[in-house]
Amino acid sequence: MKAVVCKAHSRLAVEEVAKPQPGAGQVLLKVRACGICGSDLHALEYGFAETGGIGSRYALSSVGNIMGHEFCGEVAEVGAGVDAFQPGDRVTSLPMLNCGQCEVCRAGNPTQCRTFRVIGSADTPGAYAEYVRCAAFNLLRLPASINFRQGALIEPLSVALGGVNRGRLRPDTPCLVMGAGPIGLGVLMWLRVKGIRTVVVSEPSASRAELARRVGPSAVVNPREHNPADALAQIAGSPPAVVFECVGAKGTLAQAASYAAVSGQVVVIGYCMVPDEINPHECINKNLTIDFSAGYTRADFETTIDALANGRLDAELMITDVVSLDEVPAMFERLHQPNGPAKVMIEMP
Ligand SMILES: [Zn+2]
Ligand SMILES: [Zn+2]
Repeated sequence: MKAVVCKAHSRLAVEEVAKPQPGAGQVLLKVRACGICGSDLHALEYGFAETGGIGSRYALSSVGNIMGHEFCGEVAEVGAGVDAFQPGDRVTSLPMLNCGQCEVCRAGNPTQCRTFRVIGSADTPGAYAEYVRCAAFNLLRLPASINFRQGALIEPLSVALGGVNRGRLRPDTPCLVMGAGPIGLGVLMWLRVKGIRTVVVSEPSASRAELARRVGPSAVVNPREHNPADALAQIAGSPPAVVFECVGAKGTLAQAASYAAVSGQVVVIGYCMVPDEINPHECINKNLTIDFSAGYTRADFETTIDALANGRLDAELMITDVVSLDEVPAMFERLHQPNGPAKVMIEMP
């Protein structure tokens, strides 16, 4: 099968590789769409392991591996013991391989399972490929009203939902969303679904700011021109009680803390890969809470599927580019440029 393979630090290549075989309890998925995630760019840049062995388990991507964890498709083959799914079923999967049978899996803590792996990271192949292997246990069916592009947005929308669910929110809570990339846009969409009345988005890129405007926030502010906390205070009468940090660059966490109101909260979803500084003095004086949000639960996936199926999330507007597998290496180059695309979707016939 065709796949985009991690060859070396910052280098991808399209190659012909062996098609995976589904083991017991597993299915082979024919991938129909897979999103390119900012964390994949980070993985190839900062978390890449040149050598295999023990280190590769903790690396974000390894030589020879295939990335891609935001995907959906059709069941192509089922392994032994799988009777809940059949070839042709339209599904997405939590991007995890775990047994689904041991005590911790049954208790809903898959990351503690002995067999736990993240699909598309370290040495576990992902969906920048024609086929990907999944655990039947982690599949979710796509209703007919959800197309494959939407299906591949369920994972990043669930990341955003996981962050929003950590926010101490009431309808009148003034919120600031920093960054209108796919995660920031997802956070904004969920805040609208949850009926939060005042949301300001801070985004320096004109094209991303335009995407945010289409979701319908109270205002979109260029942080290089105006202080977004002041802009929010003008509308809501007070600075942001909750700041969602969806940029993940060096310095943005301290910025988030400076924007937040006294006794406010910062929810960190942006994935900053380098050590960063905050000013504890300012955080203490403000009595600030900083919450780091990682990932989602199966319930978040189910909520996202419902919201997409009912038309409550117009998520496809975040897709600015659609590419084939062959075009992925060049697209990674483009994504490193400032003012690059928002969500890039890889589509397979
Ligand atoms: Zn992702
Ligand atoms: Zn298990």
